[in-house]
Amino acid sequence: MKPPPFTYHRARDVAGAADLVAELGEDAKFLAGGQSLIPMMNFRLARPEHLIDIGGLRELSFVDAGPEALRVGSLTTHRTVETADLGTGFDVVREAMRWIGHLPIRTRGTVGGSLAHADATAEWCLLAVLLDAEIVVAGAGGRRRTIAAGDAFLGFYTTLLADDELIVEVVFGRPAPHAAVTEFAERKGDFAVVSAAVDLDVGSGAVAGGRVALGGVGPAVVRVPEAERVLQAGGRACRDLFEACADAAAQAVDPPADGDAGTEYRRALVRNLVIRACEEAVAR
Ligand SMILES: Cc1cc2nc3c(=O)[nH]c(=O)nc-3n(C[C@H](O)[C@H](O)[C@H](O)COP(=O)(O)OP(=O)(O)OC[C@H]3O[C@@H](n4cnc5c(N)ncnc54)[C@H](O)[C@@H]3O)c2cc1C
Repeated sequence: MKPPPFTYHRARDVAGAADLVAELGEDAKFLAGGQSLIPMMNFRLARPEHLIDIGGLRELSFVDAGPEALRVGSLTTHRTVETADLGTGFDVVREAMRWIGHLPIRTRGTVGGSLAHADATAEWCLLAVLLDAEIVVAGAGGRRRTIAAGDAFLGFYTTLLADDELIVEVVFGRPAPHAAVTEFAERKGDFAVVSAAVDLDVGSGAVAGGRVALGGVGPAVVRVPEAERVLQAGGRACRDLFEACADAAAQAVDPPADGDAGTEYRRALVRNLVIRACEEAVAR
């Protein structure tokens, strides 16, 4: 299947890309790895008249892993992150990459493309929301701003990004040595039916708080305060605590029923996956 006709533009730098998309208006789209946009065009779910290819902007492809923060450029591929040394504080980011599609998709698909596409089970969205990441964007005229990941994902494939804004990088501002991501998909390489991620505050065998994020339970990735309150109350890092946290998460969500899974099946997945994520996180 071939996409509908479009005019191809190649961006020379970030400022030029942002200015050009502002000039061309809402009929223009950035093209990064093409792993979501091109299939959508082939299926006629998207019909941009102009594609601005940002694939040559090498300054947007980097991983900067320090002890206190991890910065990942928007054009960095999933595979680059999967094979990078991110240090123990950010192991969860590297390990989450193996859940994304198949190797050829991970080799072409990019961090910025995933965040902008905002699938409700995208691993990058899940990580960004879980770890309170910040998304740095560039606009026309050299404008820059930072969006908190918690505010970024508004609904089905919808973000706070303006049409003329380009994601430059995502910044994970604190290490998460006891975090884990896990999920269930029908087949290896499929998008998750449900995904779960936790980031636990653990010390001396006890949990003193933490964060819980879920994908596949609504139009966008969400944090689950009800489950986080169970972690906040604290206790020994053991199965009973994780089950209480998972029960709270399962009761808090109202997952959709669709061709992949019914509401109650998804709720059961939430419970099992939150327990598994807690156990993996604490075992680090
Ligand atoms: C078979 C298959 C299975 C997949 N499985 C998974 C999976 O399990 N998990 C998962 O997360 N993803 C999955 N994907 C999607 C994959 O991760 C894509 O790489 C990703 O969603 C989009 O990245 P991209 O670089 O290909 O973006 P593109 O397809 O080039 O662009 C996607 C959208 O983002 C916009 N965009 C791209 N870059 C930027 C930027 N820097 N700033 C602003 N807007 C931008 C584009 O204009 C477009 O609207 C799968 C894809 C396929 C085909």
